[in-house]
Amino acid sequence: MARTIEPVCKLCRREGMKLFLKGERCFTPKCAVERRAYPPGMHGAKRQRRNKSSDYGTQLREKQRARRIYGVLEAQFRRYFQEAARAPGMTGVNLLQLLERRLDNVVYRVGLADSRAQARQLVNHGHVTINGRANDIPSVVVKPGDLVAVSAVSAKKKYFKERSDLLRERRTPEWLQRDDANLSARVLGVPSRDQIDVTLNEQLIVEYYSR
Ligand code: SF4
Repeated sequence: MARTIEPVCKLCRREGMKLFLKGERCFTPKCAVERRAYPPGMHGAKRQRRNKSSDYGTQLREKQRARRIYGVLEAQFRRYFQEAARAPGMTGVNLLQLLERRLDNVVYRVGLADSRAQARQLVNHGHVTINGRANDIPSVVVKPGDLVAVSAVSAKKKYFKERSDLLRERRTPEWLQRDDANLSARVLGVPSRDQIDVTLNEQLIVEYYSR
């Protein structure tokens, strides 16, 4: 699967905010945004002082932030947007709901991985099932009623045994019902905007694609 190979902390510095791409490290003083709160590059600090963003620039940055948070490439992100625009309701919220229901994001949200990148790897390596069937496609969008679980074989592995002890400390969003004993989660519904814990102004993304 295609993915960005740029160092991820640079992405946060470019966006001027924490995107939480590196798991536990993001919550420590080692975080690059804490240490160098200006864009990457030789003239990053100077550029930040001069920075006066146009409407287009602001919309572009918001779209890039969303892409980077969820780890989605441009073409696929545009397809999500088109699907969101076709669906009834508010396009921006529809878009976030689609991104949030990606399988890799669900694995991350229930606490089976420390980051979406790690969750994507778990899915790619075939550790995750949907409704009892193996699924190694991180971009699959789950539906209400679906059961996402660690496969029976993978559940015996050291990583998941250790993970099951950590799960109790992890909060799961209301639209997912986690079963710690079975390393699984039931999708209770489509998340509402206030259940999607990302700092994004989705309206700016709608404006970006509506130019
Ligand atoms: Fe971003 Fe996490 Fe790196 Fe901090 S540690 S810059 S939040 S990826």
